[in-house]
Amino acid sequence: MTEAVANIGVVGLAAMGASLSRNLARHGNTVAVFNRHYSRAQTLMTEHGSEGKFVPAQTLEEFVGSLTRPRTAIIMVKAGEPTDDMINALADLMEPGDIIVDAGNAYFKDTIRREQAIRARGLHFVGCGVSGGEEGALLGPSMMPGGTEESWRTLGPILKSIAAVAEGEPCVTHIGTDGAGHFVKMVHNGIEYADMQLIAESYDLMRRGLGLEPEAIAQVFEEWNKGDLNSYLVQITAEVLHHMDAKTGKPFIDIVTDQAGMKGTGTWTVQTALELGVPVTGIGEAVFARGLSSTPALRQEAEAKGLGGPQAEGAFAALAADPEERSAFIEDIRQALYASKIVAYAQGFNEMEEGAKVYGWTLDLGAIARIWRGGCIIRAKFLNRISDAYGSGEQFGSLLFDPFFKKAVEGAQDSWRRVVARAAQAGLPAPVFSSSLAYYDALRSRRLPAALIQGQRDLFGAHTYGRVDEPGAFHTLWAGDKSEIKA
Ligand code: NDP
Repeated sequence: MTEAVANIGVVGLAAMGASLSRNLARHGNTVAVFNRHYSRAQTLMTEHGSEGKFVPAQTLEEFVGSLTRPRTAIIMVKAGEPTDDMINALADLMEPGDIIVDAGNAYFKDTIRREQAIRARGLHFVGCGVSGGEEGALLGPSMMPGGTEESWRTLGPILKSIAAVAEGEPCVTHIGTDGAGHFVKMVHNGIEYADMQLIAESYDLMRRGLGLEPEAIAQVFEEWNKGDLNSYLVQITAEVLHHMDAKTGKPFIDIVTDQAGMKGTGTWTVQTALELGVPVTGIGEAVFARGLSSTPALRQEAEAKGLGGPQAEGAFAALAADPEERSAFIEDIRQALYASKIVAYAQGFNEMEEGAKVYGWTLDLGAIARIWRGGCIIRAKFLNRISDAYGSGEQFGSLLFDPFFKKAVEGAQDSWRRVVARAAQAGLPAPVFSSSLAYYDALRSRRLPAALIQGQRDLFGAHTYGRVDEPGAFHTLWAGDKSEIKA
């Protein structure tokens, strides 16, 4: 009989699971560890066994037997079928009241499905978003657990013991029931896509536009990191741009293929937003930009066919030559980045608000902004401002209506417009800068050309339209005498 001594268990000891186990053990937890192939558990013990109390198990039965009640096990195995298999295998060995946590990158609808199935068996199932990669898992991630209040009572103190800490607060909170945690993690990743693409567009405008070398651009990002844009992503951008390739002696950025990979969370964010009817244009363009970058054959063909650029390709020449104008334009880019980033967050937070309504969650958006201040990839100083906005208790339809952000975007907009205009004139793609600006302008337009679209739809498909001066739906007899009837 195995003695039940571990207050938490981790199944799956590859990069993420091993780091999380070590983090748990380092913070006073007794951690049962299990991996399909025992060798990973042995390696963990040999290399890091002295970091805390581990209970390695050779079989899943032994693993479950070593857990104290309510037994709590975190699954960190390959996403998809292996996760489903492991959930079922654990559920077969566990008892009502026990807690199974999936800390992998699951699609929130899978989490909703799994939670229902596990709840029906009397157990708790928690889908927990974890951000920060391998290093975060070891040194303190930002965590977004869903599941029941009851499971949070057991799991909360354990997760708080290992989470990143931002301004004295652990970067973890109970997000909501069933798939809420994985939903919020998904939107986090969507915002991350937009933020990364905006930084990439800023780099491109400085590199191909102003003709600056990577080292000089690294210094610009370092400078930006001291102000409103202070964030992990801006910081690592400078690090990447400083780096020189040892093999060639060239800047590292110049030897990396320009095809951005993705694992699917950005796509899920956009698909879900489309289903919810929330325009997340910045995130959408960021996902499409990665997609376009990864079509080398098409891009090569475009080059071979000599797709022409604008006459004004030298739109940057004068700017680049004059140090004062160059500095002024770099400041324009900084402002454009700030304003577009605010739009990306506004859109992501709208998606969370709408998701909460549709899936029946009560999301505390201020608390979500706070747990993103540390540990995760989008950690940034400006999340304090978002937290303040949502924490004020005031209801508003968009982050852009919050007085602080409204003023910030209004202040940045002249720069933002110059950046988008100049990029278009010079033929440099800036899809997230320009789509974010278009979103902002559409939002503040009293009347949109959608009226024309309604007219077209009524003409070709009798889809009807509303009138500005009368309630109800109407149809014009376009093929007849063009009189109007009430639909
Ligand atoms: P992998 O996704 O590479 O998965 C490897 C682990 O899964 C090993 O422990 C392996 O066991 C186990 N495994 C694979 N197939 C099975 C199976 N059929 N049955 C039992 N175990 C199986 O590991 P990572 O550590 O990279 O990621 C773990 C999870 O965390 C994934 O869901 C991933 O999406 C997520 N992740 C999250 C990140 C984040 O920042 N939040 C970053 C990276 C990953 P064995 O050793 O026996 O082969």
